[in-house]
Amino acid sequence: MTTDKDAAPTPMMAQYIEIKAANPDCLLFYRMGDFYELFFEDAVEASRALGIALTKRGKHLGADIPMAGVPVVSADEYLQRLIGLGHRVAVCEQVEDPAEARKRGAKSVVRRDVVRLVTPGTITEEALLDPGRPNFLLALARLGGSGENAGYGIAWTDLSTGTFKLAETGRAQLEADIAAIEPSEIVVAEPVFHDPSLQPLFRRYGRRVQPEPQTLFDGTTAEERVCRFFGVATLEGFGGFTRVELSAAAALIAYLGKTQMAAHPGLQRPERIVAGSLMQIDPATRASLELTRTISGKRQGSLLSAIDRTRTGAGARLLAGRLAAPLTDPAAIRERHASVGRFVEAAPVRQQLREALAGLPDVERALSRLSLGRGGPRDLAAIRDGLEGALAIAALLGDDLPEELAARQVALAALPVDLLAKLSRLLADNVPLLRRDGGFVREGALPALDEARTLREDARRVVAELQGRYAAETGIRNLRIKHNNVLGYFIEVGDAQGRVLAGEGGEARFVHRQTMASAMRFTTGELAELESRIAGAAAEALRLELECFERLAGEIEAAAEALRQGAEALAVVDVSAALAELAVAEDWIAPLVDDSLAFAVECGRHPVVEAALKAGSGHPFVANDCDLSPPAEGGAGAIWLITGPNMGGKSTFLRQNALIAVLAQAGSYVPATRAHIGVVDRLFSRVGASDDLAEGRSTFMVEMVETAAILNQAGERALVILDEIGRGTATYDGLSIAFAAVEHLHEVNRCRALFATHFHEMTALASRLARMRNATMRVKEWEGEVVFLHEVKAGVADRSYGIQVAKLAGLPHTVVERARHVLEELEKGEQAGRRTALVDDLPLFSAMARRADATVAAPAPVIEALGALDPDALSPREALDALYRLKSLALDTR
Ligand code: ADP
Ligand code: MG
Repeated sequence: MTTDKDAAPTPMMAQYIEIKAANPDCLLFYRMGDFYELFFEDAVEASRALGIALTKRGKHLGADIPMAGVPVVSADEYLQRLIGLGHRVAVCEQVEDPAEARKRGAKSVVRRDVVRLVTPGTITEEALLDPGRPNFLLALARLGGSGENAGYGIAWTDLSTGTFKLAETGRAQLEADIAAIEPSEIVVAEPVFHDPSLQPLFRRYGRRVQPEPQTLFDGTTAEERVCRFFGVATLEGFGGFTRVELSAAAALIAYLGKTQMAAHPGLQRPERIVAGSLMQIDPATRASLELTRTISGKRQGSLLSAIDRTRTGAGARLLAGRLAAPLTDPAAIRERHASVGRFVEAAPVRQQLREALAGLPDVERALSRLSLGRGGPRDLAAIRDGLEGALAIAALLGDDLPEELAARQVALAALPVDLLAKLSRLLADNVPLLRRDGGFVREGALPALDEARTLREDARRVVAELQGRYAAETGIRNLRIKHNNVLGYFIEVGDAQGRVLAGEGGEARFVHRQTMASAMRFTTGELAELESRIAGAAAEALRLELECFERLAGEIEAAAEALRQGAEALAVVDVSAALAELAVAEDWIAPLVDDSLAFAVECGRHPVVEAALKAGSGHPFVANDCDLSPPAEGGAGAIWLITGPNMGGKSTFLRQNALIAVLAQAGSYVPATRAHIGVVDRLFSRVGASDDLAEGRSTFMVEMVETAAILNQAGERALVILDEIGRGTATYDGLSIAFAAVEHLHEVNRCRALFATHFHEMTALASRLARMRNATMRVKEWEGEVVFLHEVKAGVADRSYGIQVAKLAGLPHTVVERARHVLEELEKGEQAGRRTALVDDLPLFSAMARRADATVAAPAPVIEALGALDPDALSPREALDALYRLKSLALDTR
């Protein structure tokens, strides 16, 4: 039974419950002294996630209240882990002095308030961020209902650097567009969040999707809200934005307001990404090509980690962004190649630049923290050191730069040199982390500060001298003067001597303060006087330092735009020099990218597999050509059908060509001896059969859903990689589907494609499909063993070597022998010529498609009649007649 006393929460618990109720979707970090405490389910959740002790504190409604806590000093580390797991944390601080609360009565609680919501997409702390990855918060807005025709807008920002971009998109590209950004958090309106058709998208991001009230997205006030944020009367100067883009932008800004409370983030002016300017890569393709993460989610082993030679965090972020979103405009792509080319040629400059870049601080992130009021002395120092480095780098760049670098040199030349001079003059070389610790202003920079510091030091010296004097005067050799936060300065002597001092009586020079187990503490008028002089001087020194901090932060804020441009310029230089370094070290070449439909790669290699071979077995990687260029002038691109044994190198070959397209259009050189690539606007890759049990779909279903997406969406400019589709079902099903898919690609999509299969029957299609070629992976048989040469050559694999591969894998000898025997029997039994028969018996897809078109082409009379009606011109009587006529036509058609 609960008593009344149990039922009524303590005043503190009542406060906790109230604050928690206002932040139900967050873990609440409730400040109590030196700890952030969590209670109830939050405590259980946090103790499980962080491995911290679960204790209890008091009772609520008769039950124990679970509690877990983290020390404030190491809170960042715990926050990082919680955020990494997709949690959101509300940080609740004491917002008044406990002394104030006591004045209101013994039982009153200290006022507390949530000062910030820490969410995956809004963090700015160095300790919480991955230096080499952008951290995007994305808002998704929708206008015009929930159907296929709805318009979508996305706005995304990296609060840690201030980047802010907008784009309009459609349902079909939505997944690819969001995947290109790799957001850490997505904000959507509640109704959109609950739309069943978007569930697969949201499930991919799990807890990182945050539903918010529709009002955040309100289109009618969106423009005004964006204007207010940027302090402008109109957005005309920013370029034109569509309604749905503005809705997303306004929601993003509102969400930042909600999570950052009073702090005003310094975002850049929104930049609009034009539809079609980026290569579309859907999430399945991204995953299968392991562009920026491996299938298991790690950076190690991805294309990005194999090619990243950048020297700065900003450079690494830029490279990751470029790789995630390759361009489609050949001119813009060639500009990037020219920058890389410049540094390939100028090897000494490249080395000097790379040395200068290494160790540069992260200016972008320091700027953002300063603008949010969360900056510290180290951020000021980062701006100083960044500026200094930038000027050195600008001097190294040289003249006659290609366009992209020339523009960056202009940005570097515009950096505020006077700000650097001021920072160098005022800031100490080594500065502490926290403002409140002081000690970051250089000695000799501010006379008033020097004076206060001297006073403080003098007084401290006098205190030190005092110890010797008191010891001599009292004859107590182990008399010490110490300091703590409660008593301030005090004199400490052993128990016995203490009693003597206390008993001195009369003059009472030594005033008793405290009795400890084996010591006694005293003060004197002299010491108290010195102490107040020290405290006064220290407070004055800190006040002067903080004033100086604010002044410098203000000047940095005023120069923020120039500083950001400069930081971006350094990132571009870093990426270009890093790609050049890579090209030289790995022997990569500049691809030719243009508007054609060519795809011709000579001696292409797979960068990740090649690196793995080099590090592992030491076997050389076998380079291979690939030519999917249109066989006839003005025609469509070609399809290669690749057969060959398992382990022959089919998947590697397929992927390497997709990766070469991505690298080329991202602006990198490529691993080949020659490459001519007509811009790829969409890249599709369906590689292997992977289960997606989390999404509740079988392997085969996933395979078909993705194949459907490709066949429905790929256009003439697409590049399609299909690796053994149709493997996840019965042989004839699978073969039939693979067959039909290749025909569809050839006849309808007319795109460049690589198709690997173990269905040898399909090679006969080459006789019917003009732009299809057969290719196979060469193998050598040697004393009954199979040797993979990893070489692609024209033609058809004679056998699949499955049994040899099984033997290599260590299948028991008896099983291998038995399998050989069964195979022989099967092959004998197979009707001669079945392969070609299959092709000949089936009408080509194009013929069937034409027939299907023909049925659709002649519309039913009822449709024609309906089309001819003009409802506005009909009287009610005529409308009724028309309805009867339509009904009878409908019956006829049946
Ligand atoms: P398949 O898809 O035909 O089964 P994979 O592409 O998975 O074959 O390749 C199997 C292995 O063969 C790879 O893991 C790699 O070690 C090696 N390999 C593939 N291609 C090459 C190549 N071009 N040069 C050297 N080794 C290769
Ligand atoms: Mg394979």
